[in-house]
Amino acid sequence: MSFLASDALHGRGSATRDEHLAALYAASLLRSFGLDPLPSVAQEDDGYVQRGQMPASLPNGVLRYLKHLGTDGEARPYTWNAMALLRGSDWKDGAHNPVILLTAHLDHLGMGTPVNGDAIYNGADDDASGTIAVLELARALSQGPRPRRSILFVLFGSEELGGFGDRWFLDHSPVPLTDIVTNLEFEMIGRPDPKLPQRTLWLTGYNRSNLGPMLASHGAAISADPHPEEHFFRRSDNYNLAVRGIVAQTVSSFGLHKDYHQPSDEISRIDFDFLTHSINSMIAPVRWLADTQWKPQWNVGGQPQPRK
Ligand SMILES: [Zn+2]
Repeated sequence: MSFLASDALHGRGSATRDEHLAALYAASLLRSFGLDPLPSVAQEDDGYVQRGQMPASLPNGVLRYLKHLGTDGEARPYTWNAMALLRGSDWKDGAHNPVILLTAHLDHLGMGTPVNGDAIYNGADDDASGTIAVLELARALSQGPRPRRSILFVLFGSEELGGFGDRWFLDHSPVPLTDIVTNLEFEMIGRPDPKLPQRTLWLTGYNRSNLGPMLASHGAAISADPHPEEHFFRRSDNYNLAVRGIVAQTVSSFGLHKDYHQPSDEISRIDFDFLTHSINSMIAPVRWLADTQWKPQWNVGGQPQPRK
């Protein structure tokens, strides 16, 4: 995490060389855990890095935001997703294999307008913390007995510009989308949310599906999102997946701290005791999810409808 959030990576600007380096770094770890590559869709780094094309022109709202940040001049032709597969013990070649999808986003805002003399938007909490969570879950779950269902680990690029990495993934997925049992995205779990009891995470859209309550009953310290007015369910990679029908929700503990999208989102402000505990607390519930046959469902009216 000290590498991802370091000044050397210049804030991992979406669809920049720094995002690419972050993807290669994450891929090298996924590979070192003995996970399988996905060469059918990931053309770089022996099948651990997927290069997606960015749109020729970004939406006006995004361009306005980049201008506000002072980073609107950069060329952004490609975005990169790092990915790897842990094949479950039930895996059968050529068959439909159920897959649990664990995700976070690699990118942040890059270099921009200085605040108090600091121009690097490090994104330690957003979302180096979630990236590390997915990598550490990959490390833990790749050890010990194989889970029955497979687990796909994906670290998306260009979330901050509107989820371009996850959209590319959805259109170029290594597995049929209908085989994805559920998706958990990890976003900003590096600091506790003062609105929650100690050592607790929250899940966006908690009441939209039966996933959160079921994970909680299997030991996950997660509760409902205490900031419904912020609409966080719609503000991360999970949303594009949810629109496509996948029960996809985001694990977070963002307590609306003032370092959000500021150069001050630094590693020195990460609560490592909390982060480590949070990641460890999710290992057993995710392992349960991968070992069971249970499939989460949207509650009535819970699945978001595509934007027209
Ligand atoms: Zn984020």
